[in-house]
Amino acid sequence: MAGLYIHIPFCHSKCSYCDFYSMPYTKHTDAYVDALIQEWHMRKSEISAPFTTVYIGGGTPSILPPEKLKRLVESLPCDNLTEFTIEANPEDVTIDYTRFISNLGINRVSIGIQSFSDTELKMINRRHSGKDAEEALLALRRGGIKNISGDLIYGLPGQTISSWQESLDRLVDSGVEHISAYSLSYEPGTRLHAMLSSGKIIETDEETVNEMYLRLTETLRKAGYEHYEISNFALPGKRAVHNSSYWHFTPYLGLGTAAHSFDGTTRRANRRGIGAYINAISAGNPFYDVETESADELYNDYIITALRTAEGINKQHFSDQFGAKALNSLLEESRQFINTGKIIDTPTSVYIDEAAFLVSDSIFVELIH
Ligand code: SF4
Repeated sequence: MAGLYIHIPFCHSKCSYCDFYSMPYTKHTDAYVDALIQEWHMRKSEISAPFTTVYIGGGTPSILPPEKLKRLVESLPCDNLTEFTIEANPEDVTIDYTRFISNLGINRVSIGIQSFSDTELKMINRRHSGKDAEEALLALRRGGIKNISGDLIYGLPGQTISSWQESLDRLVDSGVEHISAYSLSYEPGTRLHAMLSSGKIIETDEETVNEMYLRLTETLRKAGYEHYEISNFALPGKRAVHNSSYWHFTPYLGLGTAAHSFDGTTRRANRRGIGAYINAISAGNPFYDVETESADELYNDYIITALRTAEGINKQHFSDQFGAKALNSLLEESRQFINTGKIIDTPTSVYIDEAAFLVSDSIFVELIH
């Protein structure tokens, strides 16, 4: 089994917290989809396992003109998939759009809601309102999508515990099967970072962010969601299959500028640049750099990726990868966290206790090499 990721690097406008590489979709970028299809044909032999999940992410994939999306989907191995996801923004979602993507075989939509408060949405330069998001969620249901994931952000400037609770409640009430919730981070180069540096906004204090995290975990637990990864919650049987494969080191092929691939041993990273990508692929040239990882980098990747999940590190798998001696050292280095209950040590695994997910960065720092 393997995953196929398609990157659509276009957005209507720039959200003020976002440092992803994106630009508006124009006639100058119209050739991008053709380049994606060409890259697929050039690189499909890199992965020998059958593709069982496809994820069209971005950027804003719902910005693509319908005929382009149809051409893309019909050119890729999109039959007999376990999960076929597209990311969408609320302003693009209508019942007609939903029926269109359902007919293409897309069975899961990840929708970028971020907040239901219009004041907060305006602050981060989102184009939709809370009402738009609710209407989009309804349209997805009525159009036949049975597996919906909603994204939220907490720690936004001006956000209060009660406005965060309201966003959580409204998303839970909509009945979505999956929720991804991220704590806001101020990335250098973003507008929000500049506003923070110039004193136009102030960062939400740590105590409030911690309380928001507690509200998040409590609200979703009561509503029946499993907290299966630091930022991800799912109703039973609705964990994100494609994203879980990244955490379990399943091979995946990433097409498009800035997309990453992993064939089981080698990681490849496509470079940034839409025009340069189109030119390189049209000329039949690959657009990636092979990422050579040192033994320490491989080890660190493994630790951070596995400890982000509720299952944590499987001792047998870890031992097979890095040796029994490395496992003993890891357990020794984890001792301080095991003694304080932040890490749970069982006969088969070690994992971070849910209450300590919020301080996971400080745990990673101590465990990586
Ligand atoms: S829509 Fe998504 S990718 Fe595009 S600017 Fe906003 S956060 Fe970034």
